[in-house]
Amino acid sequence: MHIWRVNTRKQDLKVEPVPASWEHLGGRGLISRILLDEVPGTCDPLGKYNELVFAPGLLVGHMLSSCDRISVGGKSPLTGGIKESNAGGRTGLHLAYLGIKALIIEDQPAGDSYFVLHVSKEGVRFDQVNQLPGLGVYESAKLLLKLYGNKVAIALIGPGGEMGFASAGILNLDKDAVPSRINARGGLGALMGSKKLKAIVINNQGGVKPPIAHLDQFRQAQKAFNKSLMAHPQTRVYAEYGTAGMTRMSNGFGGLPTRNFSSGQFEGAEKISGEYMRELLLSRAGESNPTHACMVGCTIRCSNIFGDKDGQNVVSPLEYETIGLLGANLGIDDLDMIARLNWEVNDLGLDSIEIGAAMGIVCEAGMIDFGDSTGALALLKEIRKGSVLGRLLGQGAEVTGRVLGVKRIPVVKGQAMSAYDPRAIKGTGVTYATSPQGADHTCGLTIRAKVDHLDPCGQAQLSRNSQISNAGYDTLGACIFAGFGFAGKPETIPDLLNARFDWQVGSDILESLGRECLALEREFNRRAGFTPANDRLPEWMLTEPLPPHNAVFDVSEEDLDGVFDW
Ligand code: SF4
Repeated sequence: MHIWRVNTRKQDLKVEPVPASWEHLGGRGLISRILLDEVPGTCDPLGKYNELVFAPGLLVGHMLSSCDRISVGGKSPLTGGIKESNAGGRTGLHLAYLGIKALIIEDQPAGDSYFVLHVSKEGVRFDQVNQLPGLGVYESAKLLLKLYGNKVAIALIGPGGEMGFASAGILNLDKDAVPSRINARGGLGALMGSKKLKAIVINNQGGVKPPIAHLDQFRQAQKAFNKSLMAHPQTRVYAEYGTAGMTRMSNGFGGLPTRNFSSGQFEGAEKISGEYMRELLLSRAGESNPTHACMVGCTIRCSNIFGDKDGQNVVSPLEYETIGLLGANLGIDDLDMIARLNWEVNDLGLDSIEIGAAMGIVCEAGMIDFGDSTGALALLKEIRKGSVLGRLLGQGAEVTGRVLGVKRIPVVKGQAMSAYDPRAIKGTGVTYATSPQGADHTCGLTIRAKVDHLDPCGQAQLSRNSQISNAGYDTLGACIFAGFGFAGKPETIPDLLNARFDWQVGSDILESLGRECLALEREFNRRAGFTPANDRLPEWMLTEPLPPHNAVFDVSEEDLDGVFDW
């Protein structure tokens, strides 16, 4: 495999050998190494010294269930620190087939024109497609598929990325050519826009599956992993309810963010639960489907297709995080309206968590009422228009809260919290506070642990373990839910890696990859100017009791500062 380095100013490509210290890494771990080696911590995230890196995980390329994810990273326009965000879909698989260990996009073109970066076995070229700038994600993808054929992989930005919004993400085609899998968090869409790239089209024709050093051993390990994954009870739960199954659980723990994080339980939770959604979608038939795979080979299939009353596809997938932030957090209990809001947010190319949190603040400021879904839709139209209010929302929850004078701003390191209130799920609160990525449940969710989530004791240790293993999975390119299979058969991780690369790694490989990744990320943030003061939840969460348990976040500062003392 090679490093493909694309300079957007010179419009050229250098294919380079993989440096020795990068060899053993992939995905998130490789991104942290590259950024530390090449990007000044203090650089302008939207300036020419920042890099946008696409890196498939170590296990990508073999259609191993749920293990073909693409990590994208750079210095975050939202947090000012390191950022990696991973997604399913086709992008990772296509890059791996072309032998690309990392695609590094650097520098900045002088003009204002947007380009499509076309990547194939022949190299790269910059195409100018005049109709694309300003187009929404769905229309853009349609046009690109017409131009390049429907077998390609595409990563693209929407109007939000073009406008430089810190809430903008990058959308990837799923296995059915729908631009639905988003590298959502941290403003990476704005970073891609700053490189004047509307889309990256990857044609893997003529590419080959990454070589496997010991095929028999790989197949054996794959079989064991699949068996373990299929035997795990959560695999069935996720196939039936998807991530939306979390609504009941989170609400039950009093941790479902409601009306701008002012309560942890929502009276309309049942109507936005995964169980309710499943029945609704089954009754609607047509294109509606409560079970769907985002990538070829995924046997969990946690995704879904949300169809309207006539069964016509509205959005895919409708996930728990979106239901939490665009639903309960805005006081909206209508899945059809949440799906419509979700379509708009996707089409704008934005992160539904960040935008949901920003709109919750607008509600609290009294500009629209909680529960006013028509008003929420109108706010999204403001973003599309690029009005001052729209631009404010597009910059995310922190900027919105400051400008509107709202005190209750649910962010850490400038990034909005996901759909778990940290006062009720304290281990996840520790993750929000201390993760180098800013508040992000995917960095270390603890809600499934069999502990008292309201008790501050032991939460730092719980978060640490979760952060380490999640950073490890993100380095492998494994979906967080593939962890169900690996948890039952942990030896399959070294077995797969040893068979794939002819390595001799031991049973601690997941942990050692995770620790290395986190140490690199923390060092990047240190160089960017972060201190322990950045590893804190907002002060109001330490004093404002959260109904129904009237809990505050009371994990000690000593515990927070000790998370990475290993
Ligand atoms: S479990 Fe869900 S997110 Fe993970 S790979 Fe499968 S469909 Fe995609």
